[in-house]
Amino acid sequence: MKYFTIKELVKSTTAIKRHIDNTPSKEIERSLTALVEKVLDPLREAYGKPIIVTSGYRCPRLNAIVGSTPSSQHVKGEAADIKSVQDTPEENKKLYDLIVKLKLPFDQLINEHNYDWVHVSFGARHRRQKLKAVRKNGRTVYVNS
Ligand SMILES: [Zn+2]
Repeated sequence: MKYFTIKELVKSTTAIKRHIDNTPSKEIERSLTALVEKVLDPLREAYGKPIIVTSGYRCPRLNAIVGSTPSSQHVKGEAADIKSVQDTPEENKKLYDLIVKLKLPFDQLINEHNYDWVHVSFGARHRRQKLKAVRKNGRTVYVNS
């Protein structure tokens, strides 16, 4: 791992506030390392600028508190939510487009709410699924992108 640390992929302000121990197991650390080495590091290298990880690993309790589904790849240490330092839809979209352009071996790549952030996962499956998260009647739904 060149540009990212396990620490930043595990850090959660919600976990700190709620006194939740979000320490990953060795197995989860291995998954996070694979995510960095296969996707995040090559992306960062090509992008040439820092990338912010807003959420990486989430233990089941933390994952439930943030309103995610139990099957979320965040629980397995296989997913990260990322954004640019500028944090604009235009700049966050560059990260999404670069992941596609570089043909990184992602499992799922999601444009979350008009590039509010980008969700990217790496795991045993290589679905190379590109999705878009949108709100419909107050709920988040995922459509092919
Ligand atoms: Zn996510």
